[in-house]
Amino acid sequence: MQAWIVDTPRPIDDGPLRRIERDRPEPGPTDILVRISCCGVCRTDLHLAEGDLPPRRRGVTPGHEVVGRVEALGSDAGRFSIGERVGVPWLGAVDGTCPYCRRGAENLCSAPTFTGWDRDGGYADFCVVDEGFAYRLPMTVDDEHAAPLLCAGIIGYRAWRSADVPIGGRLGIYGFGGSAHITAQIALHMGQRVHVLTRGEHNQELARSLGVDSIGAATDAPPEPLDGAILFAPAGELVPVALRALDRGATLAIAGIWLSDIPALNYERELFEERRLRSVTANTRQDGEEFLALAERFRITPTTVGYPMDRAPEALADLEHGRFGGAAVLHNG
Ligand SMILES: [Zn+2]
Ligand SMILES: [Zn+2]
Repeated sequence: MQAWIVDTPRPIDDGPLRRIERDRPEPGPTDILVRISCCGVCRTDLHLAEGDLPPRRRGVTPGHEVVGRVEALGSDAGRFSIGERVGVPWLGAVDGTCPYCRRGAENLCSAPTFTGWDRDGGYADFCVVDEGFAYRLPMTVDDEHAAPLLCAGIIGYRAWRSADVPIGGRLGIYGFGGSAHITAQIALHMGQRVHVLTRGEHNQELARSLGVDSIGAATDAPPEPLDGAILFAPAGELVPVALRALDRGATLAIAGIWLSDIPALNYERELFEERRLRSVTANTRQDGEEFLALAERFRITPTTVGYPMDRAPEALADLEHGRFGGAAVLHNG
């Protein structure tokens, strides 16, 4: 089969990805083998290709928003049937025994395995996943539109919950790409007022098309104080900006896996009055199930841009340079 691998991490325009021919992976006892139809392109793939995220394994295949059909079952696998549509997400395995797993916080597992970082991911013809970590996908979306739900959607949902905005409250969204535009749809369905602060014409256009309450530049003050905010842009310099936009007692959640350095904070202006700053680290399977149920109920539909699988590097470069709004999705065949 064909697969993209991260050869030597370097800037995306210098070609860190290489396409190779490799054997189809063999499912372990509790794994399923998935024939990949689509794979979403996540900013994490870009961080991995460029070396912001240290590679965990040389020559790993990126991609953790995989939609495909079950091609074969491991000897002990029985959750899905052959031919069934499944989604393969970022969280690939946890130990189930560490203190974090035991208290229900498997997103903080001390020995996790991630798809497209430890295990080979979806920029390929096939991948394997432990069946316990795969998802059934909403019937309301086709393969291309299901793919971004698997990371952009689930992580955005966890960040949205972490920001802890009440029903009908005021939510600020900093940065407006693949994850944010899905999260905004959830928030709007929950009756929240959504203020989008972002640079980039495509992003602002996308926010407008979803009917958010206001749109401004990333460093603008929103038109009203925020009950909570989510930082999607990987830009640490926006942390004090977003904290200053919060009302008393409100939370800023940082959604990304990587953030540039945060400048010094001023305690009085940016944290006092019980403003809170939280990171978001991966997700639990329960987050995933809850989000996918909401996505089906609200008929959440990501805005996508399709690319053939053989143009994966171009999709990543377009993401880096902000050449599209929404989420890029790679297609096989
Ligand atoms: Zn654990
Ligand atoms: Zn991701």
